[in-house]
Amino acid sequence: MIDPETPQLPEMSERWQQTLNWQPSPKQHQQFQAFYDAVVIGNRQFNLTRITEPSEFWEKHLWDSLSGIQSFLGSGAARVAIDIGTGAGFPGVPIAIAQPTWAVTLLDATRKKVNFLQTALSETGIGNTRLLCDRVEAIAQHSLHRETYDVATIRAVAAASVCAEYTLPLLKIGGIALLYRGQWTAEEENALKPALETLGGTLERSDQFETPLTQSVRHVLHLKKMAPTPKAFPRAIGISTQNPL
Ligand code: SAM
Repeated sequence: MIDPETPQLPEMSERWQQTLNWQPSPKQHQQFQAFYDAVVIGNRQFNLTRITEPSEFWEKHLWDSLSGIQSFLGSGAARVAIDIGTGAGFPGVPIAIAQPTWAVTLLDATRKKVNFLQTALSETGIGNTRLLCDRVEAIAQHSLHRETYDVATIRAVAAASVCAEYTLPLLKIGGIALLYRGQWTAEEENALKPALETLGGTLERSDQFETPLTQSVRHVLHLKKMAPTPKAFPRAIGISTQNPL
């Protein structure tokens, strides 16, 4: 849906190119705009995000979401991905728009957010997503989901070791978890390593970005699944956050 009252998003073709070496096609830009319209309209009812000004939305929601998959952008390979705690659809929806050959599952435990996404996605014509309203601790123990994804993304959901416990069980061996973080230090990295060993993962790399408009520092951690995650993980609902690895 294009809402005539919602402001236009900036195209930012050069910024996309300079920072992520990629540009949206006109169709993809139109889908970003249609999703932005849906978020602005949905916000009136659901209180989804404080970030609604067009250039701030571009930087903090669209650009930030795609910075995490920079190494995949432009590749037409098919991949099965899941965005855990997607909220109003970040980073999962921009990823689904940018990578039409991916099948992206958007998971959130909050019914009103999933209801918003159901309406928004049907109105914006983004067909390569499916929605799940559940806790990740439950679906990651289910054979329909466990060890079935190539990529798992997670932004603004929990501490890094909790995000590792949520993502790694869902990945196939060789799959990649992308943990979107703000600041990230060597101490945090050292503290994360024992949890990764327990969960069958390793930190492949951590990419540092500077956001293009406000020059904030962002990091994306790439965790690679090396071995099956022991069945005990993720632990029962709430335990990972109460007692992080
Ligand atoms: N990822 C989005 C973003 O960056 O804008 C939303 C972040 S919001 C702060 C965190 C979301 O994670 C909430 O919508 C919440 O319902 C969801 N969430 C938290 N814990 C969860 C869990 N264990 N399973 C599924 N969803 C969860």
